[in-house]
Amino acid sequence: METARCPHLLENMSAYLDGEASAELCAEIERHLDGCEDCRVVVDTLRKTITLYHELPQPELHPEARLRLYKSLDLSEFLNS
Ligand SMILES: [Zn+2]
Repeated sequence: METARCPHLLENMSAYLDGEASAELCAEIERHLDGCEDCRVVVDTLRKTITLYHELPQPELHPEARLRLYKSLDLSEFLNS
């Protein structure tokens, strides 16, 4: 079943979205996305998040806004770094 391959694909999704995946892996992921609604949602969400991240120059993100963003994403553990 296609769904059995989801975890493997999800592991490689960030590389895929960063353009670091091999052509072979890209093709495999895109083939899977054609038939897997769940993974499409994941990719769409990740892609939007990454786009937003790249479109927001870090210095322009107010520290309080960053704090709220991190908390809303439950990433507050990273705030200490
Ligand atoms: Zn899938």
